[in-house]
Amino acid sequence: MPEQMKAWVVDRPGPVDGGPLVRVEKVVPEPGPGQVRVRVRVCGVCRTDLHLAEGDLAPRHPRVTPGHEVVGVVDRLGPDATRWHEGDRIGVPWLAHTCGRCRFCVSGRENLCVAPRFTGWDVDGGYAEYVVVDEAYAYALPDAFGDVEVAPLLCAGIIGYRALLRANLPEGGRLGIYGFGGSAHITAQVALAHGARVHVMTRSPEAQALALQLGVTSAAGAEAPPPEPLDSAILFAPVGTLVPPALAALDRGGTLAVAGIYLSDIPVLNYQEHLFEERSLQSVTANTRRDGEAFLAEAARIHVHVAATPYPMDQADSALRDLSGDRVNGAAVLVA
Ligand SMILES: [Zn+2]
Ligand SMILES: [Zn+2]
Repeated sequence: MPEQMKAWVVDRPGPVDGGPLVRVEKVVPEPGPGQVRVRVRVCGVCRTDLHLAEGDLAPRHPRVTPGHEVVGVVDRLGPDATRWHEGDRIGVPWLAHTCGRCRFCVSGRENLCVAPRFTGWDVDGGYAEYVVVDEAYAYALPDAFGDVEVAPLLCAGIIGYRALLRANLPEGGRLGIYGFGGSAHITAQVALAHGARVHVMTRSPEAQALALQLGVTSAAGAEAPPPEPLDSAILFAPVGTLVPPALAALDRGGTLAVAGIYLSDIPVLNYQEHLFEERSLQSVTANTRRDGEAFLAEAARIHVHVAATPYPMDQADSALRDLSGDRVNGAAVLVA
């Protein structure tokens, strides 16, 4: 009989208080050709997991296991897998597979692949004892980071980094950050390391305090206008009503990047107030592996400080409830 493991699955998507996640016994997965199996040590909790559990993102696979910030150790190689060795510590991220053939893949934009697969959405993720990954999509992890602190870098960090690139922040520019959780607190440090002046808009007093401690110039309420016009802004909170004030806070030629995979509806915009004078609104869609590698190298170079709250793996449901209630400062990480 195949070995069994414990894993969380999205049973019936719905409000997180109704218990959409359940813990079940599953067969331990076998790595296929070009894949490796990873014994999970920790898995970060991303807001996307919450959107999936609550049904904001439609499940693409019944009873999928969430989790795409996985840190673990290679414990079995599939046929033809040559990149890693048993015992290597690797990271399993959101981007699980791209086709390699579409016009986006062949032009260095695999984040826009027309047939992508994502960990914890299309294929089972890391809220489990084991996960399987295509070897080419896993990351080597900088030794400078422990398991708990490196996990949030794998999505929160990489996506925030891509959002920062999409926001076109000039060297030494003025950056506004709307919402200050797992992704934002990492991204702010990258911007600060490049000499940016950073203004944080968030409703949580604890998050404002963390932002100031990390060296941002100002921290105030979510809709408060920043003290100076912004060259760039990133919207991390999945709140569409923040788009108009964030656009209005931009200087001429400024860019607002929306970092999340999900955003509630954006209210009607006023062309003169929100877009004229060449203000731009950019979405951010996943990331390329090159983004991930560049970010992990940068994170190690500037040694980002990761604020993480560990939860035991068997309390994934409470971690999601806390995330939903804005009760996690920094990033929640499940520990096996
Ligand atoms: Zn493709
Ligand atoms: Zn994520």
